[in-house]
Amino acid sequence: MKYLDLIKKNSDWVEEKLNLDKSYFDKLSKGQKPPFLYIGCSDSRMPIDTFTKSEPGSFFIHRNIANQVFTNDMSLLSVLEYAVENLEVEHIIVSGHYDCGGIKSAYKNDGCTDLTGNWLMPIKKIIMQNREELDKIEDLSDRLDRITELNVLEQLMHIFKIPFVKNRILSGKYPKIHGWILDIRHGKIKEIEYPIEQWKKDGIIPINYEI
Ligand SMILES: [Zn+2]
Repeated sequence: MKYLDLIKKNSDWVEEKLNLDKSYFDKLSKGQKPPFLYIGCSDSRMPIDTFTKSEPGSFFIHRNIANQVFTNDMSLLSVLEYAVENLEVEHIIVSGHYDCGGIKSAYKNDGCTDLTGNWLMPIKKIIMQNREELDKIEDLSDRLDRITELNVLEQLMHIFKIPFVKNRILSGKYPKIHGWILDIRHGKIKEIEYPIEQWKKDGIIPINYEI
């Protein structure tokens, strides 16, 4: 697609929307109340609205390389805090995807500029911590898929540990936290199960939490 196509296609889209509903943009401009916060990878193949057939206003979004949740990342924290405290989102979704360049670079230790290499350091740590399990997976693609899943699990744990998320869970029934993998080879969303009861025992998840 060329740059000018973007502007042209935008005009087409506006026209389509207005043909269906003359007040579409009037409604949209009244404000947002998205039920979902989505934390995903910056990869260009992951437009979550398209994959879920969602309209504007559905997702509050934060994206970075390999969908990392760092508790010292001010950009992520402010998005997360606004979503939880002001928008009162009902669900937080952390989504990775198969064939993730960030995961591959972290595993192969190449293809990174200095800053990106630094950004991916925590994934290298996940790989080291799970070396035994990963070494048993013979197929490289399957091994990378597993690292992608382990990475999502790690980020879910980080979300639960953030004090204002924990407090919000303690004071009500939301937000629910979900882990996804977007299977880019088939276009399907795969929900990642995580050990809720174990994490409750470990003090990671508040005891009153129910999915
Ligand atoms: Zn990615």
